[in-house]
Amino acid sequence: MVFNIQRYSTHDGEGIRTMIFYKGCPLRCQWCSNPESQSSEPSILFDARICKGFGDCILAAPKAITLNSNGVHINRPAISHPLRLKDVCLSRALTVAGENKRVEDILQEIEKDLPFYQQSKGGVTLSGGEPLSQGPDLTHLLEELRMRNIHVSVETSLHVHWKKVARCLGLVSTYLVDLKHINREKFRLFTQGNIDLVLTNLRKLVEHRENIILRIPVVPDFNHSMQEMEKIINFAASLQHIREIHFIPYHTLGIEKYNMLGMNYSFGSKKSVDPSELTPYVNYALTKGLITKIGG
Ligand code: SF4
Repeated sequence: MVFNIQRYSTHDGEGIRTMIFYKGCPLRCQWCSNPESQSSEPSILFDARICKGFGDCILAAPKAITLNSNGVHINRPAISHPLRLKDVCLSRALTVAGENKRVEDILQEIEKDLPFYQQSKGGVTLSGGEPLSQGPDLTHLLEELRMRNIHVSVETSLHVHWKKVARCLGLVSTYLVDLKHINREKFRLFTQGNIDLVLTNLRKLVEHRENIILRIPVVPDFNHSMQEMEKIINFAASLQHIREIHFIPYHTLGIEKYNMLGMNYSFGSKKSVDPSELTPYVNYALTKGLITKIGG
């Protein structure tokens, strides 16, 4: 399931890129800025600030959407067919993220941008959520892109069964792998995941000599300290064939989306990390012979 196709992106990989954002993620990072990507089902977003009170959503789902003295109230579990609400709200206060797109339809979108890829050495970036958790359609798309000789980057946490990674071997130009932490307990506490799965997959990917760039989200109270970052960078530098590491500063831009999804943002009121705070980490990584970059 896809929740967004974004054209002309210049932030995620080389050149001008088409970003395909997939829904469904096995992790629950406390700082996640794409909470609409976590569920593999369609997600209903409601922005009360722009609701004009036309009531079309209430007419479409009268048992689940009601009007009370506080305005529109949405009982999400009671909505059995969220996709039926997709275009009912004229003011776009209520939107639905997620759509089952056929590979052919995704390819049609991608092909509109072919001239830009050729001029800028760009291509397609698969993101999410976790693109590698998708079903057989993902392999089909990768094969089609390979046949068209289109550069493909995949943003992944690698928190999936190895067979989901193995099917992509030889079909992905660059893996942009999130290396959030290497400490088992901290990783579990902040993401609900198992770091052993990530590190085992990463080592296997390295063994297959795939092209990998590591991306470290720099997150307050999680890994934003010299002590923690040294351990992560040392681990990265110990992996053969890995030459490049990117530091991604934590930002608060996604917080409003939690409200709109009826979700709780449990990460508290932390400030965005200023890129200048990352200089010591960049310098340390340089001493380890790594190519570095701040941002995607
Ligand atoms: S891996 Fe990415 S999409 Fe998944 S929960 Fe973490 S930040 Fe969000």
